[in-house]
Amino acid sequence: MLRVAVIGGGPSGSCAAEILAKAGIKTWIFERKLDNAKPCGGAIPLCMVSEFDLPESIIDRKVRNMKMISPSNREVDIILDDIYPGSDKEYIGMLRREVMDSFMRNRAAELGATLVNGLVSKIETGTNKQGPYTLHYTEILNDKSEEKGKQLEVDLIVGADGATSRVAKAMDAGDYNYAVAIQERIKLPKEEMKYYEDRAEMYVGTDVSPDFYGWVFPKYDHVAAGTGTMKQNGGLIKSLQIGVRERAKKRLVNGEVIKVEAHPIPEHPRPRRVVGRMALVGDAAGYVTKSSGEGIYFAAKSGRMCAEQIVESSQNGKIIPTENDLKKYLKKWDKKYGITYTVLDILQRIFYTSDGAREAFVEMCGDMDVQRLTFDSYLYKTVVAMKPLQQLKLTLLTIGSVLRGKALAPSTYKPVPSAVRDDKEVNKMLAVSSIKGGIKASK
Ligand SMILES: Cc1cc2nc3c(=O)[nH]c(=O)nc-3n(C[C@H](O)[C@H](O)[C@H](O)COP(=O)(O)OP(=O)(O)OC[C@H]3O[C@@H](n4cnc5c(N)ncnc54)[C@H](O)[C@@H]3O)c2cc1C
Repeated sequence: MLRVAVIGGGPSGSCAAEILAKAGIKTWIFERKLDNAKPCGGAIPLCMVSEFDLPESIIDRKVRNMKMISPSNREVDIILDDIYPGSDKEYIGMLRREVMDSFMRNRAAELGATLVNGLVSKIETGTNKQGPYTLHYTEILNDKSEEKGKQLEVDLIVGADGATSRVAKAMDAGDYNYAVAIQERIKLPKEEMKYYEDRAEMYVGTDVSPDFYGWVFPKYDHVAAGTGTMKQNGGLIKSLQIGVRERAKKRLVNGEVIKVEAHPIPEHPRPRRVVGRMALVGDAAGYVTKSSGEGIYFAAKSGRMCAEQIVESSQNGKIIPTENDLKKYLKKWDKKYGITYTVLDILQRIFYTSDGAREAFVEMCGDMDVQRLTFDSYLYKTVVAMKPLQQLKLTLLTIGSVLRGKALAPSTYKPVPSAVRDDKEVNKMLAVSSIKGGIKASK
């Protein structure tokens, strides 16, 4: 019987382990921290809820309003009521990763995977990396004591251990370009929180990121405000986070930072994603999209697709799949999502490079065709075909916006006005106190 170790108990690992266990394959899932709160905005597309059978109870907020805010503070509202008239079923799910991850991991264990609370520290890969593989790990026991020096031999490894993957190192998968991201979880007064109840905000501008965007996403009883930038600008990350706080400060007034978190975001697939009988999925493989920075759905989906390939090629665990068998998962993945990654990469290169381009981007987001196209493909993960007339309109719109954008780009950045208080009141409040706690950096 085939023996598989899934390293990492995030969405990619849990989804892989679930499929393997359901097929009756002997499966271990290793997670170093069972209460891990993965630093993450926690936004998921609607289709993920049904496709991965997620209970609504793990979703904190159903966002139906998205506000795009340009460098000059032009605000464009994307309202799902307008995009999908007469329907209230569409939403962007906002959740806390500690809640989602433990639900998915426990479900994989209930289906038969052996959940090991352990840190895998070394992987012996056998001759020419073909296995069998010996995992060396430290197990964390129920009373939190550690049992070091444990070993397990397996025939196949699924590397679901995130951006700093140890499996990727063991298989010599090569490096990838990555972004660094930071986020502060901020508790807000009731009135301010009410505004964010079903609303998320995206800020663009050189002040918040030279190549990405800043966000304020609602969670259960707080908001998560953060930003990211490519690694070459990584030294700026704290000052960019101050940029987000500065721009949103009138909306986050009297907020209190309850958590600061940071993590890399892979921005490109690794040069090698399958070596021997080791396959990478999720962030370990490098499956976050450009422009949107979306990775949760793609992590879960890649874990599932990789595991389905293992089940098929191993005839439900009867034989050990070959390297070529595992590479079939990559072929299917690239065929299904290659175009999505390319389009979002091009969009990032066009629209996130200067404040003029960012003004154009936000202006374009006001167009109903753009909104429908974006949300159909984001919420439902379908490739949406455009009619020729729509295509022509979009091209003209892009050119027009890009030309106008340059003139609109500001020379300095100002805070957006409060959404629930008049300016006099909010300025008075800011004079007394601003956001409490959190990171410290000079702009
Ligand atoms: C600040 C920030 C905001 C983001 N916002 C969003 C968003 O709003 N929406 C979205 O879709 N994506 C977002 N992403 C991306 C998203 O978080 C990732 O794409 C997603 O978590 C990838 O899932 P994964 O299962 O592949 O890896 P991870 O979620 O990183 O899980 C890996 C797991 O492996 C465990 N692990 C690692 N090494 C070992 C080891 N040696 N032994 C045992 N266990 C190990 C870790 O503890 C972890 O639980 C964001 C990322 C960041 C950094």
